[in-house]
Amino acid sequence: MRKKIVAGNWKMNKNLAETGVLISELKTTLEQSSDAEIIVAPTFTNLYYAFEELKGSDIKVAAQNMHQAEHGAFTGEISASMLKSVGIEIVILGHSERRAYFGETDELLLEKVKTALKHDMTIIFCFGEELEDRKSEKHFSVVETQLKNALFGLDAASWKNIVLAYEPVWAIGTGETASPEQAQEMHAFIRSTIAKAFNDSIAEEVSILYGGSVKPANAKEIFAKPDVDGGLIGGAALDAESFAAIVNAI
Ligand code: PEP
Repeated sequence: MRKKIVAGNWKMNKNLAETGVLISELKTTLEQSSDAEIIVAPTFTNLYYAFEELKGSDIKVAAQNMHQAEHGAFTGEISASMLKSVGIEIVILGHSERRAYFGETDELLLEKVKTALKHDMTIIFCFGEELEDRKSEKHFSVVETQLKNALFGLDAASWKNIVLAYEPVWAIGTGETASPEQAQEMHAFIRSTIAKAFNDSIAEEVSILYGGSVKPANAKEIFAKPDVDGGLIGGAALDAESFAAIVNAI
């Protein structure tokens, strides 16, 4: 059975003190065990602290990005082995903000994916179409191309380390959510595309999260869809009560 996952992407929010507050609130609010694996992704400077504070809890810690090189003259960047050395085993790659503001292409993401796999990290791989793609009914082909370019060259064994996060760009941080039916339609398409490129068992086992303005008010309906295995949450993950309500909607 594939895993249900709720992951909170804190983006460039929360300094060290605020991270401490949110973590202690989450530890209290999320105290009962959940059916979902719970992940939070604080900013780089707070990863080690978050990892230490959450040791022994049911909450895992992820990085929001990493560089593709092993080490070297890449000022301002963070490597996979640096993340691993502070206990981080999970990395978000390909978030639409990285693609839009930092020029990350499918080709670059393939390099990052390969490096993360070399370090046996779990990858939450984000992708999704822009508003114009949906309006012109190109959303399925855009998503298929993103997956093909970054993931379909991998060997079958790599898929045990991959979690997919379908995030339509028009729904991220906008308050606009894909309807549960739109999410289900795309997730089913993604699964069938993976089945064709690899096999049915990989397609059945991979967790596909939905991301884009998920809130306590809409989480249950979205998570109820058979091919939606949880969510990647931005804004609503910055508040312990709303994140807990989303986790409880699984
Ligand atoms: C995200 O950034 O991955 C995201 C889904 O953000 P939000 O929930 O705020 O739309």
